[in-house]
Amino acid sequence: MTYLIAPISGSTPDDVQQHADTALTAGANAIELRLDLTGPYSADDLRALRRTIPSEVPLILTIRSSAEGGAWDGGDDDRVSRLIELGPLVDYIDVELALWLRSANIRQKIGLALRRAGHVSQHAGHEEIEDARPRRLILSRHDHAGRPASLHSDLLAMCKEPLCDVAKLAWRARTVRDNFEAFELLRESPRPVIAICMGGHGVASRVLAKKFGAFGTFSAPAAGLETAVGQLTLVDMRTRYRWDDMDAQTAVYGLIGEPIAHSLSPVAHNAAFDSAHVNAVYLPFEVSPGYEPLKAFMVEAMARPWLDLRGLSITIPHKENALRFLRESGGDLDETSLRIGAINTIRIDDGGRLVGRNTDYDAALASISKAVGRDPSQFKGLRTSVLGAGGVARAVVAALTAHGAIVTIFNRTENKASALSAEFGCRHRPWAERETATADLLVNCTSVGLWPAASESPVSPKALSPPMAVFDTVYRPIQTRLLTDARGKGCPTQDGLSMFLHQAQAQFELWTGRQAPAESFRTAVAAAMATALKS
Ligand code: NAP
Repeated sequence: MTYLIAPISGSTPDDVQQHADTALTAGANAIELRLDLTGPYSADDLRALRRTIPSEVPLILTIRSSAEGGAWDGGDDDRVSRLIELGPLVDYIDVELALWLRSANIRQKIGLALRRAGHVSQHAGHEEIEDARPRRLILSRHDHAGRPASLHSDLLAMCKEPLCDVAKLAWRARTVRDNFEAFELLRESPRPVIAICMGGHGVASRVLAKKFGAFGTFSAPAAGLETAVGQLTLVDMRTRYRWDDMDAQTAVYGLIGEPIAHSLSPVAHNAAFDSAHVNAVYLPFEVSPGYEPLKAFMVEAMARPWLDLRGLSITIPHKENALRFLRESGGDLDETSLRIGAINTIRIDDGGRLVGRNTDYDAALASISKAVGRDPSQFKGLRTSVLGAGGVARAVVAALTAHGAIVTIFNRTENKASALSAEFGCRHRPWAERETATADLLVNCTSVGLWPAASESPVSPKALSPPMAVFDTVYRPIQTRLLTDARGKGCPTQDGLSMFLHQAQAQFELWTGRQAPAESFRTAVAAAMATALKS
């Protein structure tokens, strides 16, 4: 069993109680009282809290020092006294390894407190026997700066302590690859372990704790109550990352790119896995720009078949790097991907064979087809202005030119427009001329109009007049300023959400061999966007 532990604190005992109630309602099955983050708190407050927590939900007492990222700046003597006073009232005491190793006296005192099970206390004027379960010890080490050089020797030191029941190691991940090391600790340790990578790179270590048999992972009772950088909420863990359904067999999928924190792909794919009852989870893997970081991630992931990594979505800035990696490693690439020079999808088959595809291409074709009300076979001669020369423009231009459309590219940075047009045999014109071009179709492939700058448009309304159709690849918001202006002028329009959903559904089908649950994709993305746009 892997505990979903909610750290709680508060300036008053009532706040602490309220956060505990919130955590239990949200599905926590263990509670950590962070005394270092809590105002004055007595043994009676702790007894009262314990009575409201179901007996099968362990209560952990932690007094984290400021040296390890907590807020306790009292001395060690006071800290040990509080642990000894309150320890017998909880199920687990968290003691930092550094404090534990400081002196035999400290170890002896805490050891005695741990053994005081069945302890008799004076309560409400009569003697009361607290529950008689043994108290247990978590030895911990936190490094908020990076991976400690002593990671393995710390774990060894913890495991060597006869009283240590659980070893906890938490460090700030330098790259997403630190997660792999956390999983190795979980797999190899003879003791129950908590291994967590803090920060934005550590989401995988938090979510996959259950797959790799960790003692527990920490999740905030609600947004705003996080106690560490990168901590997810209980709701995120359970609804977005499918905690309740996870087991050792859960297959892993993910998105690689940077930045990816606001990507809707995890929402969309996890909802689809859920609705199609696929035992899989989809995670964000932030990988720094450049071929070498992409290659390092792929090589390290592929060297660990036990990760059960089965597929990846690829986004900015790695679509071209991913194609190069598959080329160099003998992966399977189709004609379209090679012509576009980029892939947005990798499938990892049994035995580690890699299959690379570009689902943006078909998605762009489908959206353009809807925008102009014609089948791609009738695109010949379609005069199209493409704004932008980045990743999306590449897929759009490839799709249009392959079907005979007459494409002109306009880009703020002109040399990118000229390079892209040379590659696909089409025209390019200066950005300043974008409003005077005559076209049957205008496609916005720039990020102008993207939330939060949603009031912007890449062209003024005077550049829009029917029968020109307008397709905006931006999908956040769904109704961009450009589309609103175009509709106001009577132009047929197509939003970017249809392209996003189409490419994501094609990824699902490539990975699972099953038909994508289209409605689940759409509902999950629309709900996530409504929430994001409100916040
Ligand atoms: P990218 O490779 O970074 O390209 C961004 C493009 O936007 C470049 O051409 C850039 O011009 C241009 N641009 C940025 N700011 C500009 C400004 N202020 N004025 C004029 N041009 C500007 O990004 P991408 O992957 O192509 O994505 C572009 C947009 O497409 C995203 O914002 C996203 O909303 C949308 N998108 C949609 C889907 C979908 O499935 N619907 C998928 C991916 C992306 P320079 O070359 O001059 O920098």
